[in-house]
Amino acid sequence: MSKIYLKTDEEIELIRESCLLVSKTIAEVGKNIKEGISTIELDKIAEEFIKNNGAVPAFKGYKRERSIFDYTLCVSVNEQVVHGIPGSYVLKNSDIVSVDCGVLKNGFYGDSAYTFAVGEISEEVKQLLKVTKESLYKGIENAVVGKRIGDVSYAIEECVLKYGYGIVRELVGHGIGRSLHEAPEVPNYGKRGSGPRIEEGLVIAIEPMINLGKRDVKVEKDGWTVSAVDKKPSAHFEHTIAIRKNKVDILTTFEEIEQIEKQQISSLKKEAV
Ligand code: MG
Ligand code: MG
Repeated sequence: MSKIYLKTDEEIELIRESCLLVSKTIAEVGKNIKEGISTIELDKIAEEFIKNNGAVPAFKGYKRERSIFDYTLCVSVNEQVVHGIPGSYVLKNSDIVSVDCGVLKNGFYGDSAYTFAVGEISEEVKQLLKVTKESLYKGIENAVVGKRIGDVSYAIEECVLKYGYGIVRELVGHGIGRSLHEAPEVPNYGKRGSGPRIEEGLVIAIEPMINLGKRDVKVEKDGWTVSAVDKKPSAHFEHTIAIRKNKVDILTTFEEIEQIEKQQISSLKKEAV
């Protein structure tokens, strides 16, 4: 993971296609997020949707050491930060659930993640979700030609630290293209002006993973799930972006996901009336 592959305009369009499918898949999952659904059911919905759209789930079959990840989504609930394994867990009111999804289409990967609220969540956790998403966009704003990866990292860190949240350091954003994980690494903390130069054609996934409590994480016995040691909730938002000459091009989109979220919130309010 050292050489940075800059992409041509044609390659970026192919990556965009994969990214749009990832975004639609997460929206499809979002429609089904409610009390009573199991995380494996969400995984099946995503797998079917991706296959029906002529693509391959990128995480399914992902190997690490001797272990193979056999699912389409990483579904991480509450204190789980990332890499949660879909299973029999049934979502309940006031959970938060991070859905991370990748697809491979036409030889190129797309990658995105979004943390959803299940029913009503506390104000404290609402703020965690809001700030984590904000920090992603602060990072993106700084991903421009002439700056360095450290400027992106610093912007995320600066946005989050004033709330006293813990920034997970063991996991980072990454370059993406013909591989799911390419150089450079994109940490969610760092020094301004440090790290690789940001150049036209760079395609990266930026993905702050932010803990309500302390930053310390551990890998669960299943060998995949990363959880906050203090068991406080953790949020994760991720966009894949391309750096163009004069602008940042966000290849994934939260637009449809956010519309679904609004509908769910307004139907909750109606129920309450
Ligand atoms: Mg990623
Ligand atoms: Mg991801």
